[in-house]
Amino acid sequence: MKKLVLASGNAGKLREFGQLLAPFDFEVLPQSAFDVPEADEPHVTFVENALAKARHAARLTGLPALADDSGLCVSALGGAPGVYSARFSGEPKSDDRNNAKLVADLQGKVDRRAHYVAVLVLVHHADDPQPIIAEGEWHGEIVDTPRGEGGFGYDPFFLVPELGKTVAELPHEEKNRRSHRGQALAKLIERLRLDS
Ligand code: IMP
Repeated sequence: MKKLVLASGNAGKLREFGQLLAPFDFEVLPQSAFDVPEADEPHVTFVENALAKARHAARLTGLPALADDSGLCVSALGGAPGVYSARFSGEPKSDDRNNAKLVADLQGKVDRRAHYVAVLVLVHHADDPQPIIAEGEWHGEIVDTPRGEGGFGYDPFFLVPELGKTVAELPHEEKNRRSHRGQALAKLIERLRLDS
């Protein structure tokens, strides 16, 4: 099996990517197994940050690497919080404060449109001139009152209009199937299938 480093410390992501990439002969290993420290994410686009993380992991391990970056973009806020989604209300990270700021910033705004974005980048080596890049988007609306207990982050405030439910009200299999991350992963897998 070919080894692939995941540029993330998240155990859930490791399990999910490991299962989905096993059929392509990839054994997915966490970057912590190689003592790779977290990379900086200095950029203003998801794709640049994911690429920086993937290259950093590939450079320090000498192996192919996979990284992801994701966040929420709100139309009436010019795409904010965007790459700053995790720390929208400052340090330390807090979903509750982020959501309170989101609702406050949208006070009185008629346009409630928002979308989640996820970008996955796979580099075959650190200086790969042609990384595989897969992007997913999930469109919805921001509501003022939270609903549901599932998911994380902005999910209780993110309404999926065609379902009449917030993401936090969806079973996690349904979220995974529809989500920005699920879509990006499906595209990445399709690309790997074409390449193999
Ligand atoms: P990261 O890509 O894991 O760094 O996530 C960035 C941030 O975007 C998270 O901390 C959340 O604030 C937000 N985010 C990304 N995906 C989701 C999601 O599926 N639901 C809710 N919030 C999300």
